[in-house]
Amino acid sequence: MGRLFVVELVGKAYLCGFCKTPVALTDDLLYKSFVCDEGKAFFFRNVVNITFEAEEERRLTTGMHTVQDICCSCCVQSLGWKYVAAHNNNQKYKEGKFILIRSKIMEEGEQDFEAHAISSNGESEEVADNSSLEVHLSSSDGENAWARED
Ligand SMILES: [Zn+2]
Repeated sequence: MGRLFVVELVGKAYLCGFCKTPVALTDDLLYKSFVCDEGKAFFFRNVVNITFEAEEERRLTTGMHTVQDICCSCCVQSLGWKYVAAHNNNQKYKEGKFILIRSKIMEEGEQDFEAHAISSNGESEEVADNSSLEVHLSSSDGENAWARED
């Protein structure tokens, strides 16, 4: 894998959904409830391991913006865009910030949830073991016999 220039993040990260390169920190997540043309999106104040496309004017639901598409620097998949400039004053807070499209990124540890599901299956197996242990104990009249011997 071409991970030569990949910045390793300290802390929990969001990963490129295609190649699992970390592209943003959860600490840099500002809003989770963005909705764009491509569905749910997250709004970040900073991203890493990202390459920038050329600036272009784009009409978004909140008006005209100057944006740059942002791509994973590792697999070059388009993941979202950067707000370079907002034409509406009430959208100025977006300038210099980033959108990552939710369906194109994954939260670090999403695999762990699967692992957790597997381990909880393991727990139910343990319960089964315990019940057979109980059977073993209740049938251990031999212990009482031992006590009587003392
Ligand atoms: Zn990638």
